[in-house]
Amino acid sequence: MKIYFDNIATTMVHPDVYKYMLPFLSDNYGNPESLHFFGDESRTIIESSRISVAQLINAEPEDIIFTSSGTEANNLAIKGVAEARLSIGKHLITSSIEHFSVLHPYKRLEKLGYEATYLPVDRFGLVNPDDVRKALRKDTILVSIMHANNEIGTIQPIEEISKVIKENSKAYFHTDAVQSVGYLNVDINEMGVDLLSISAHKFYGPKGVGALYVRKGTKMLPLIEGGVQENGRRAGIHNVPGIAGMGKAAEILKDKRKEWVTHLISLRDPLVKGITNLVEKVYFTGHPQQRLPGHLSLCVEFIEGESMLMLLSTKGIAAASGSTCTSRALKASHVLTALGLPAEIIQGSLVLSLSPDNQYSEIEYFLKIFPEVVNRLRNMSPLYTKYLKEKGV
Ligand code: PLP
Repeated sequence: MKIYFDNIATTMVHPDVYKYMLPFLSDNYGNPESLHFFGDESRTIIESSRISVAQLINAEPEDIIFTSSGTEANNLAIKGVAEARLSIGKHLITSSIEHFSVLHPYKRLEKLGYEATYLPVDRFGLVNPDDVRKALRKDTILVSIMHANNEIGTIQPIEEISKVIKENSKAYFHTDAVQSVGYLNVDINEMGVDLLSISAHKFYGPKGVGALYVRKGTKMLPLIEGGVQENGRRAGIHNVPGIAGMGKAAEILKDKRKEWVTHLISLRDPLVKGITNLVEKVYFTGHPQQRLPGHLSLCVEFIEGESMLMLLSTKGIAAASGSTCTSRALKASHVLTALGLPAEIIQGSLVLSLSPDNQYSEIEYFLKIFPEVVNRLRNMSPLYTKYLKEKGV
């Protein structure tokens, strides 16, 4: 049995998306900038994908910039706005649990003389809109708060945060919707955002293609300069097959999302219940309700996440852990640390992210294997032995 529970890392390419991309990897190979019929075919598919992507988030097609990834979209939004608004101010706000494709650009800008405020989150991973209000200054040029977190699944109160920003400042508001767009209603007007990043490979599209929505009138300089592609806002030849695939994936998603979400919840709930009943000393992380529908995150005490992942993988189960391990040091997840969890709990982090393709039989299989894996690892743990002794077992 091969079970894929790692959809936060990437999703499968939907079979219809794959089929749709094929001509652009074979016969239709024209450069979209070329002024002949080969170029026309590529230009046409790019513009039709732009419409599909725009419709997914209720935007105008001309406000969509295709990029190489969610990472590039985040970098473009942050660095592009920071440079364009330099004369207005140098203060930026974000949260402490953002993806590194937001945090690292912030760190870079700090080195260049900008000032950054990193907002805390509560124990469920929520940013408090009142903290945003308190952090806003006259010279704040950008606030970037993610829509949903990859490690803990928590969904931020984006509309409330937007209201606070608009009422109290002239700062632009960017949100990283890379993890949310595949599962939640993402509407740029309801959310009140000026910039929004998405990535095709998180919603059954291909890897290596993303998009940044930029509201009309928003000042932003390009990161990549050269040709006239994307109206000069992102130079470099288009990834035509990728963009075609992203457009198709957006169309399928718009049509199927409701049905998929219902299915995901019907799988996640028994998974939570099963783990709770079968394994002791397990701490679920993230918000219990305001979270992505197919997302489950937890910490298993007395165990290291990496060992759990490896053993699960030998049993045919692909999952993820919040902590990253280097050969010398175990580096605790910045997200779980921000929740205030102790280091020894954080180490045992596990993230299970489901897809509409998963079946109930896979949940049953996981619930059979998981307690065995946990027991096996705990039996090797001196801390667990100590715990059992103290408990009198
Ligand atoms: N933002 C979030 C929240 C993510 O989870 C990821 C990827 O995991 C990214 C941004 C980066 O997207 P990409 O893989 O397209 O570069």
